[in-house]
Amino acid sequence: MTPDFDAIVVGGGPAGSTAAAYLAQAGMSVAVVEGAVFPRPHVGESLVPATTPVLLETGALEAVDAAGFPRKYGASWTTAESRRIPHAGFTNLSHDWAAKVQFVERDQEGVDRDFTYHVDRGRFDLLLLKNAEERGATVFSGVRVTGVDFDDPDVVRVTARLGSAEVPLTGRLLVDASGRQTLLGRLLRMKVPDPVFDQYAVHTWFDGLDRSALASHPKEVDHIFVHFLPVKDSWVWQIPITDTITSVGVVTQKFRFREAATDREAFFWDFVNGHPALSAALGKAERIRPFSAEGDYSYAMKAIAGDRYVLIGDAARFVDPIFSSGVSVALNSARIACRDIVAAHRAGTGFGKAAFSGYEDTLRRAVSYWYEFISIYYRLNILFTAFVQDPRYRVDVLRMLQGDVYDGEEPKALQAMRDVLAVVEGDPDHPWHPFLGTLRAPTMAPLF
Ligand SMILES: Cc1cc2nc3c(=O)[nH]c(=O)nc-3n(C[C@H](O)[C@H](O)[C@H](O)COP(=O)(O)OP(=O)(O)OC[C@H]3O[C@@H](n4cnc5c(N)ncnc54)[C@H](O)[C@@H]3O)c2cc1C
Repeated sequence: MTPDFDAIVVGGGPAGSTAAAYLAQAGMSVAVVEGAVFPRPHVGESLVPATTPVLLETGALEAVDAAGFPRKYGASWTTAESRRIPHAGFTNLSHDWAAKVQFVERDQEGVDRDFTYHVDRGRFDLLLLKNAEERGATVFSGVRVTGVDFDDPDVVRVTARLGSAEVPLTGRLLVDASGRQTLLGRLLRMKVPDPVFDQYAVHTWFDGLDRSALASHPKEVDHIFVHFLPVKDSWVWQIPITDTITSVGVVTQKFRFREAATDREAFFWDFVNGHPALSAALGKAERIRPFSAEGDYSYAMKAIAGDRYVLIGDAARFVDPIFSSGVSVALNSARIACRDIVAAHRAGTGFGKAAFSGYEDTLRRAVSYWYEFISIYYRLNILFTAFVQDPRYRVDVLRMLQGDVYDGEEPKALQAMRDVLAVVEGDPDHPWHPFLGTLRAPTMAPLF
C-alpha cells in the first residue's frame, strides 16, 4: 500500500514544526499531528543564539523578527549571598556570585546578530506551526496520537483521536516530537530517568516587575536573569515576555516540595523570599497567571532512532533548563535528524535505524556537553562564576551559552572545569570545598 504521508510528525512544538518545515521544503509529504489547539501556554521562554540559523533555514526567522518579542542580548546571574569567594588562582573573580555575559563578545558561525529572543511560547509555537504549514506540511490540530504500530515493515500505522473519533494515518516514517510526554519513549519502554537530577519548577507571569531594580547596568535589563538562592541547588529564572510582563520560576530539587507539604504559591514565595531584592521587586508587581509546576524532568532514551522512527527535541532527551538549552536542542535536533531523513528519502534506501547514525552520534555528543556543563554547575556553581569571569575561559563558556555545541570539538573549558572540580572534590582543605553542591551527577556517564 502507499502510505498517506512520507513522514508523520507527532507534536507541533518547536521540534515538530521545525522538522516538518525541513522535510516539506525538501519535497517530502509530511503530516504534523498536534494534540493541543494553539496558542497554548508552554514553559521554556528564553532562546539561545543557536536557534537563529535554524529559524533562517526553515523560513521562520522573518516572522519571528516581526513578532516583537523582547531581544535577548545576554545573561546575568545574581545572588542573595555576600559570601566572599577565595580567588583560588582565578582572575577577575568578583566577591559575590554575580556575573554577566553578552553574546556580542563572541562571533558565532551562521548567526548574523548579537541577540536572540525571549518568547511567549503560545505565540512562538503557533508561528512555527503556521510556518510548517506554509512550507507544505499538513497540520492536524487538536488531534492526539494514542497508538503506533510498527509491525508492517513498509508502513507505520498511527492511531489518532479527534474528540471521540479515531483517525487512522499511515506514513513511511514516524518523527516523535511529543516533548516531555515522550510518546515513543513510553510506548517502546526506552525512557531512562536521570539518576541524579530530579528537579521541580513552580512558575508564573508577573506584570509590572521593575527589571531595572535587579540589573546592575541598564544594558542588562532585558537579559535572562538567574538568581541564585541560599538553598543549595536552587535558583530563580527571570525572563522578559513583553515590555511589562516577566516570567518568573523557582527551580529546586523535587523532594523539597514534597517535604514542604504546602501549595505552589506558598512554596514559590518561600523560595523567592530568600532573595530580598527579587522579593521586594516582585512584591510590587501583579501576578497575572496561575502558578504552574513542572516535574519529572531529566531523562535519556535507550535509543533516539530505530527502524522507521526518530526522536527529536524533548521526546529524545531532557536536561535541566538552567542554561536555556531546550528550544535550541529542539530546533537543532530537528535540523540534524532531517539531514539524515532527507538523505535516506532521496537515496530511496528506506528508513532503517542505520540511516540515522549520523544524527544519533551528533545529538548524543552535543547533549552530553550540555549535560556535563550542567552537572559541573550543580556540583560547584562557583566554578561557573569563576570561569565566566576569567578571560582565559570566558569566550569558551560563552560558546556553550550560545548553544554552539553541534559542530567542532568539545568546548575547551569543559576539560579545564573537570580538572579543577577533581582537585576541589579531592581536597577537603581547598578554599572552594565548602561551596560544593549536593547533586553529584556523574560527568560523562555513558547514557547521559
Ligand atoms: C522548568 C523548565 C524551564 C525551561 N526553560 C527553558 C528556557 O528558558 N529556554 C529553553 O530553550 N528551554 C527551556 N525549557 C525546555 C523547553 O521547554 C523544551 O526543551 C522545549 O519546549 C522542547 O520543544 P519540543 O518541541 O521538543 O517539545 P514541546 O514544546 O513540549 O512540544 C511537544 C508538543 O507535542 C504535543 N504532543 C505531545 N504528545 C502528543 C500526542 N500523543 N499526540 C499529539 N501531540 C502530542 C504537545 O501538545 C506539544 O505541543 C524549560 C523546561 C522546563 C521544564
